[in-house]
Amino acid sequence: MTFDLDIKNTVRTIPDYPKPGILFRDITTLLADARAFRRAVDELVHPWAGSKIDKVAGIEARGFILGGAVAHQLSAGFVPIRKKGKLPHKTVSMSYALEYGTDEMEMHVDAVQPGERVILVDDLIATGGTAEGAVKLLRQIGATVVAACFIIDLPDLGGAAKLRALDVPVRALIAFE
Ligand code: IMP
Repeated sequence: MTFDLDIKNTVRTIPDYPKPGILFRDITTLLADARAFRRAVDELVHPWAGSKIDKVAGIEARGFILGGAVAHQLSAGFVPIRKKGKLPHKTVSMSYALEYGTDEMEMHVDAVQPGERVILVDDLIATGGTAEGAVKLLRQIGATVVAACFIIDLPDLGGAAKLRALDVPVRALIAFE
């Protein structure tokens, strides 16, 4: 489910970035707007107020900014999911699909305890390859992935449907068709 918020107007669209034909949705303008940032975090948090959420997992890098704020609001812990080679302790890793080829993401093996309830947060879901990899990584160490939350969904690219097929409820605040 998505719903239109005034925060949509604060997202900047950059044509032909990072390559010709791509419309890049830039949330730095949303983050820099105090009301929009506040509203976005409040809306991401809202469904979970009063529920038991143990951890918020954020995907590098914009998922750290949003996930940290969401975790603080929910009095939950924060877990970074990072690109390969960035975390200092023992990690588990998962490869995930990019437009061309694959990459690997990692998290600390002890970042989540088996059975803990986790919300996944990122700025945007497109094809869903990144979020799918993160869900698999979290499940690999026994986490219960309660939901995946994004500011932006690009529904034409099918990412939300891909996550729902994995039995992960998806929530996005706005969509760009
Ligand atoms: P996906 O794996 O195709 O769903 O791509 C989502 C990942 O790529 C997320 O981590 C996003 O931050 C990033 N991403 C893809 N397209 C955009 C965009 O237009 N704006 C911002 N981030 C994007």
